[in-house]
Amino acid sequence: MKAIQAVRGVRDILPAETPTWQAMEAGARKVFELYGYREIRLPLFERTELFARGIGETTDIVEKEMYTFVDHSGESLSLRPEATASLVRAYVEHRLHAHPKPVRLYTIGPMFRYERPQAGRYRQFHQINVEALGTATPTFDAEIVQMLMAFFAELKLGERVKLHINSIGDATCRPAFRAWLRAYLKENLTRLCEECRARVERNPLRVLDCKKPECQPVIEQAPSILDHLCPPCHEHFDRVCHYLNLFKVQYIVTPRLVRGLDYYVRTTFEAVTGELGAQNAVAGGGRYDGLVELLGGPADPGIGFAIGMERVALLLKGEQTSTFAFVFLIPLGEPALERCAELAKDLRAVGVAAELTHAPRKLRAELDLANQLRVPYVLILGDDELAREEATLRDMTTGDQRAIPLAGVVTEIRGLQGQQT
Ligand code: AMP
Repeated sequence: MKAIQAVRGVRDILPAETPTWQAMEAGARKVFELYGYREIRLPLFERTELFARGIGETTDIVEKEMYTFVDHSGESLSLRPEATASLVRAYVEHRLHAHPKPVRLYTIGPMFRYERPQAGRYRQFHQINVEALGTATPTFDAEIVQMLMAFFAELKLGERVKLHINSIGDATCRPAFRAWLRAYLKENLTRLCEECRARVERNPLRVLDCKKPECQPVIEQAPSILDHLCPPCHEHFDRVCHYLNLFKVQYIVTPRLVRGLDYYVRTTFEAVTGELGAQNAVAGGGRYDGLVELLGGPADPGIGFAIGMERVALLLKGEQTSTFAFVFLIPLGEPALERCAELAKDLRAVGVAAELTHAPRKLRAELDLANQLRVPYVLILGDDELAREEATLRDMTTGDQRAIPLAGVVTEIRGLQGQQT
């Protein structure tokens, strides 16, 4: 029979990689909980209209990238392309806004976008999302950005990830900037890529975000939003920067860093690495003060970010080691198997990772296997030893062997494990 392969752009996270993923998740939980964030777990699919409204009908995500299907009741549903809309839906639906604010939440899981797959870009990918709802103060923006960098520091990636930050203004100052930018882009229309030409009318800010080489000269010369901020937005941005300085977070002010959606305001940021080619953004976020209201809730401001786990995993590659069994039990014969099976169970019960050979081959072959598994100790039990109520304990690092009484195996091995940790 022909083997069936995984869907294009969708990948398995294999056992050799899972220690990296577990380290990322553990790092996120540890750091975010220190800052008062609690986990929320959200469904993987929602009504399509949630994303249409929450992300925007005219965005690439909603126009081209969603996995949308009609279920048996005729309702249009979509696999989530991002988590913010779902999280805000849950915030409104369960009246989480009645809790003391800001409400601080994080969630970890897969997202789905029909994009062109390449290294660091997949159709099912994973994000760690963090959102804080109910505060508009700039010092909070600085804190959440500092927390993002603390996450990278926790994973020892602090030096390899740079923070870019910008303000995109608000409803007071952005419309004038947008008109200004549009006029400039129109003058330079022929130097833009096809996609950007289409964006000039509908969403000129998105042009600033374009990564295509042909657009870069135009983008570099474009007017800077930072020169067009209204006084309150200016003050907000200054305070964010002041607090980032206070926290000793290094950042690069990047005026072209935008989020194309109307409800995004003021602070936007991105964590970027120089090591992953075109897919260089490992996390992105910003303030979205209009979203909760847009999704039927109170006028609560929000700020958050999403970390791309595949990309962080690429940076961490090879840096985590798997944990293997601490002891490998080799019974030679049926009566010995019975005793070893019991011993393995007892060892595990006291917290020692034990692996048992259920169908032992020659001792040499089993020792080779133990070597491959990088197990520090092997316990060998043959008929003669069993008769003496003893077993042979072999230290795989030194090759030393000694006899120990069967009754003392659990205590002995547990003690050895204690010495190692
Ligand atoms: P976004 O929600 O588009 O702002 O994405 C936030 C982060 O998720 C990005 O900085 C990437 O690290 C990651 N990301 C976005 N899309 C993909 C994808 N298709 N494959 C892998 N990672 C992605």
